[in-house]
Amino acid sequence: MAKRHPQGPEPDSPAHTHQELHATSKGIRVPAFHDLAKRLRFAPDQGRIWLDDQRMMLMHVSSLGSLRQELIESLDKETARGLITRIGYQAGTRDAAMARKVRAGLNTYDDFLAGPQLVSLEGMVHCEPVALDIDVQRGRYFGEFYLVDSSEAEAHIASYGIGNEPVCWMLIGYACGYTSAFMGRPILWRETECRGMGHAKCRVVGKPVEEWEDAQDDLRFLRIGDFVKWAPQAEEQLPATSRIAAGLTSAPENSFGVVGISAGFNTVCHMVNKVAPTNATVLFLGESGVGKEVFANNLHRLSKRADGPYVAVNCASIPEHLMESELFGVERGGFTGATTSRAGRFERADHGTLFLDEIATLSFTAQGKLLRALQQGEIERVGDTRTRQVDVRVVAATNVNLREAVKAGQFREDLFFRLNVFPIEVPPLRERRDDIPLMMNWFLQRMGRRHDKHITGFRESAVDAMFAYDWPGNVRELENMIERAVILAEDGGALDLCHLFTGGEEVDTTAFMLKRSGSIGRVGKLGGTESLSAAALGHSGLAETEVAMLRAAVAEANGNLSQAARVLGISRAKLVYRLRKYDVMPEAR
Ligand code: ZN
Repeated sequence: MAKRHPQGPEPDSPAHTHQELHATSKGIRVPAFHDLAKRLRFAPDQGRIWLDDQRMMLMHVSSLGSLRQELIESLDKETARGLITRIGYQAGTRDAAMARKVRAGLNTYDDFLAGPQLVSLEGMVHCEPVALDIDVQRGRYFGEFYLVDSSEAEAHIASYGIGNEPVCWMLIGYACGYTSAFMGRPILWRETECRGMGHAKCRVVGKPVEEWEDAQDDLRFLRIGDFVKWAPQAEEQLPATSRIAAGLTSAPENSFGVVGISAGFNTVCHMVNKVAPTNATVLFLGESGVGKEVFANNLHRLSKRADGPYVAVNCASIPEHLMESELFGVERGGFTGATTSRAGRFERADHGTLFLDEIATLSFTAQGKLLRALQQGEIERVGDTRTRQVDVRVVAATNVNLREAVKAGQFREDLFFRLNVFPIEVPPLRERRDDIPLMMNWFLQRMGRRHDKHITGFRESAVDAMFAYDWPGNVRELENMIERAVILAEDGGALDLCHLFTGGEEVDTTAFMLKRSGSIGRVGKLGGTESLSAAALGHSGLAETEVAMLRAAVAEANGNLSQAARVLGISRAKLVYRLRKYDVMPEAR
């Protein structure tokens, strides 16, 4: 159990010089929220409301109540609770990104309290902190809040009256999403008292998933239930999905990378669930490293062929002249040097699933044979005259646009149509950032075990950077980066930027800095004792980096300095001062 620090900020944190403070009745000091409130902008002539760069919408609480009621009645209470919790989770991770941007450079507590303040600003509930203990680096978290006047409870009570269970599902989801994104590890919140149960106000407690004794029930609402089947039965009682969601150490190795909560991830899971029990050919599309092979593997495990073989072939890794014999087998004397008969992957996958990765690299001959296998369920070994019947479900994947490949004459059109029965697009990691904290923790645990090292977590600046980075290499890149960092880091320490972004990968620091607060203070912090390597800074000095950032922001805003300042998270006056200082003030417009 984490210790409570009712005094709020840790003693050695810098004094609250940046912001006006006030004390709540409980003694935890909450910073003023002007910095957040001023990001809320109404543009009625455009039909828009902005909270920073997120478009918002005003909704009647009574309408939310009707929506909830309809969801509960038309689905069932558990399913509705799952949906609503996950929507809250996604909102929470969005706000965590904004909080980091707006409050960057302040101390951890003020930084964190932006979340509860945003919830108030958004009209969901008023939060009163009771106890808060945060140590991002060591992964320590304990939070306790009163939620006063929950709009969600109000909506629920209007439909169902007072009940015997907590009802603030969206708020709990929000708290989980916000805190997990903030900490870079899964934090679970639970409502111990709720207005929906007749209490005067709701009371919530949050701590790391591992510290809850019976987390699986709550985690179920953050996950896709059907993926429970993924785990070997004997492994443990906790459902696999919960373990995967939590990134707990006991999760099976072969499910790696299958963690997520984003809308994109859920859509893929939903489609995999739908198609798995059928015999349909499935085609996974998406960039390299998004985890297509992991989804294919899970599709097999969820299928009626789960007890049959699962054979995976990466078509790109097999030399073209061996491809046919690899896939379809070879008969003795079939070609020079074929001294024994051998079954190919197709035969080995009989009554099971054959996964063909990077399908676009198949030769035309192999494509023809594959088509025949798909259409007639029969194959012919190389050098053989008879055909053999096989019962194989083919699942294919590619990062190539096959329609284009057909047009370019590189891929058979008939095969394309045969494969494209049920395409599933796996979105790149940068389009499902909500999944990043779960994955960070998942891979950290996994790599810690692999290299026998105890790493406590991620430093805040590292969590920030992981969130902002664009991940061109997707999940695989994240996995590799964390593995390397675990090897580099001190045993018993935390992962920092210098372990993660070691310069091997192309870190677009300009973009990265702009996407964060763009805050110059932040750059100084990274370049100081926390030392971002020179390589990661693109071998340019701090001043050059800053000038590049200022220029980029001004250009992006088409010379509108107020807008550029907003992008950078500094005042217009500060921006003007800096532009003058470096003599890069744009011509007056
Ligand atoms: Zn409540």
